[in-house]
Amino acid sequence: MSKLSPAALRARTAKARIVLTDIDGVLTGGTIYHFVDPSTAELVEFKGIHAQDSIAMAWLTESGLMTGVISGRVSKGTDARLRMLKVKHIYQHRLDKAAVLAEIMAAEKLTKDQVIYVGDDIPDLAVMSRVGLAVAPANARPEVKAAAHWVTKAQGGDGAFRELVEVILRSQGLWDAILERYR
Ligand SMILES: [Mg+2]
Repeated sequence: MSKLSPAALRARTAKARIVLTDIDGVLTGGTIYHFVDPSTAELVEFKGIHAQDSIAMAWLTESGLMTGVISGRVSKGTDARLRMLKVKHIYQHRLDKAAVLAEIMAAEKLTKDQVIYVGDDIPDLAVMSRVGLAVAPANARPEVKAAAHWVTKAQGGDGAFRELVEVILRSQGLWDAILERYR
């Protein structure tokens, strides 16, 4: 589902300098697992990020685009994985997502049309209304799909982020270089 024509979607993604995303429900299917670490009595959260989405995150950085996550929750494992993927802006435990967006845009001197954001739930709406391209995965809540410029065919945690990244890299003429690297 898209409110943009393929050409309009390409035009918007061609302007992107940064791709920001929510974590739960976008990079994951939304399920969060909990256990208490017996050695510290600390509650530990963990979740799964699809490998096809992870590699796409790395490709963005390697292609010269910036990446970032804005999440209301905290997971040390996710933080470590995102650092491994060279995600530039990692904000966890932040529900004031619009304030985080403003911080990132000021730090990187970005205009609205240079920012893409992906979100699946109500806390994402404030960011989605402030970026050039707001994207929702197929599993997003109805209000979020309604606010998005583009809804991916894939579900969060199952290729939604990858679907977006391929559109971005193709529209910026960077996709062939990725393919060539693996041939
Ligand atoms: Mg979410």
